[in-house]
Amino acid sequence: MKVIGINGYKKSGKTTLLLNLVQEFKRRGYKAAAIKHLSEDIGLDKGDTGKYKIHIPEFAALTEQELIIHLKNNQKLEEVLNFFKADIILIEGFKQEKTFPKIICLRKEEEREELFDGLQLCTASFSPLDTEDRLTNFNIINKKDLEKMADLIWQRAFKLPNLNCGACGFPNCYELAKEIVQGRKNLKDCVTLKSKTVLKLNGRVISLNPFVEKLMINTIRGFLSSLKGYNDGSIEIKIEQKK
Ligand code: SF4
Repeated sequence: MKVIGINGYKKSGKTTLLLNLVQEFKRRGYKAAAIKHLSEDIGLDKGDTGKYKIHIPEFAALTEQELIIHLKNNQKLEEVLNFFKADIILIEGFKQEKTFPKIICLRKEEEREELFDGLQLCTASFSPLDTEDRLTNFNIINKKDLEKMADLIWQRAFKLPNLNCGACGFPNCYELAKEIVQGRKNLKDCVTLKSKTVLKLNGRVISLNPFVEKLMINTIRGFLSSLKGYNDGSIEIKIEQKK
């Protein structure tokens, strides 16, 4: 899954950049999706829909053109990502998320120190900034710069599972993510991503850490091995919802 974050303070051009990049990926024939972090409440407050929002934890509102699914709980970003079938997902905000690379939108030079967390791939701004570090600073509205940025994102965007299982030798996904952004490691170093076991719960893929994966495989193969016709090939099991 290709994921890129766009971080920065208010009025730094995050939304403009995201929209321009989505257009650029669309022009290249890719399907781009976006997730935005909001500090205010999500609309849907008027009339009867507002009553739904107060009393019903999960509901959908649809017109002929639009569908909004409202889930009233704390969804993890990974669960939200699973909703999308896109070639690339751009995430605006979510500064605290540390499992994918980021573009940092800067209003001024001094913000670098406050916003850099080791996952910055490049910076972007409306007007030129003095770039003393090795990161490229792109212009948010310049067509050539947007093309170069899209190239860089396409080559380098990634998402680690956020399981923090430690199987890669790093204490958490953030530490490996920083190494990948710095070019010292790559996605193959995440043991969980290499896993050949796919677990889906209610249609959504759930990441497995190596311990749980091994336990599950050994238990299932152990049970099945006594059955006639068993071999070591691939296994598919589907368990329908409990009545
Ligand atoms: S192996 Fe993958 S999921 Fe586990 S801590 Fe490392 S990066 Fe995270």
